[in-house]
Amino acid sequence: MDLGLKGKKAIVCASSKGLGRGCAEALAAAGVDLVLNARTASTLEETADAIRTAHGVNVQTVACDITTEEGRAEVLSVLPDPDILVNNAGGPPPGLWSDWEIDDFEKALHANMLTPIMLMKHTLPHMIDRGWGRVVNITSQSVKAPIPALGLSNSARAGLTGYVAGTSRQVAEYGVTINNLLPGIHATDRAQSLDGGVVKAQGITMEEAQKQRQATIPARRYGTPQEFGAACAFLCSVHAGFIVGQNILHDGGGTNATI
Ligand code: NAP
Repeated sequence: MDLGLKGKKAIVCASSKGLGRGCAEALAAAGVDLVLNARTASTLEETADAIRTAHGVNVQTVACDITTEEGRAEVLSVLPDPDILVNNAGGPPPGLWSDWEIDDFEKALHANMLTPIMLMKHTLPHMIDRGWGRVVNITSQSVKAPIPALGLSNSARAGLTGYVAGTSRQVAEYGVTINNLLPGIHATDRAQSLDGGVVKAQGITMEEAQKQRQATIPARRYGTPQEFGAACAFLCSVHAGFIVGQNILHDGGGTNATI
């Protein structure tokens, strides 16, 4: 399917690895020029080179922390008016409700709620002027069903979800869509670090921890960044203009719910 995106320009945040990279690769395969971001310059450059070589698109890089005001300003100075914005950042650490202080919540809120909101605030006006735009926020299945160890994620992402529910319906008439893509467990560094938590807590091997977590997913496996990226690229495509303000699970059936 031709996604109709050739020549469009996208900012993909937190995209040197994992799900962000999966989205960047899929958009590049559809002919989208990219601004990629991550904190570690070396990994970011390697990813950018690989994408340029594989897809022949223009890829610019901004090595910075997207959860800071300075980082966001740097990314926006390179591309203030993207056609497509994919919001992403690292997820908050696991723990228990009794562990966290205000400071922990503030960090999670900045990373997983306020950063995407601020990036939308700056880029939506350009999309509205142009009469076309796409925003996809990488959130989590924890939005639909809370994950006990990820209370910081449950909380911050709920705030972003509420913002998107309202704002997406205010910008849809201008040809701009905002949707959230909710990953379940995918084979990335983040999943490996959460597997490591299970290893530590239960005194089992990494293989056992992964088997245990795979058994909780009806598809009986972890998702891949490639599959996730393809779903993101479809939401960004010309075919997805009537999908507005949705929270789309990409979790192998892991969230046990009827709707
Ligand atoms: P990942 O494999 O650890 O990759 C994270 C990427 O984001 C890396 O490129 C990293 O590069 C970059 N990054 C992290 N913090 C950043 C920051 N402050 N500023 C700029 N770049 C940053 O993670 P992932 O699995 O793709 O997860 C992506 C998001 O999806 C996270 O919010 C995670 O909580 C959520 N999620 C993931 C899963 C899963 O199973 N994988 C499930 C549910 C939700 P640098 O470290 O160099 O900055």
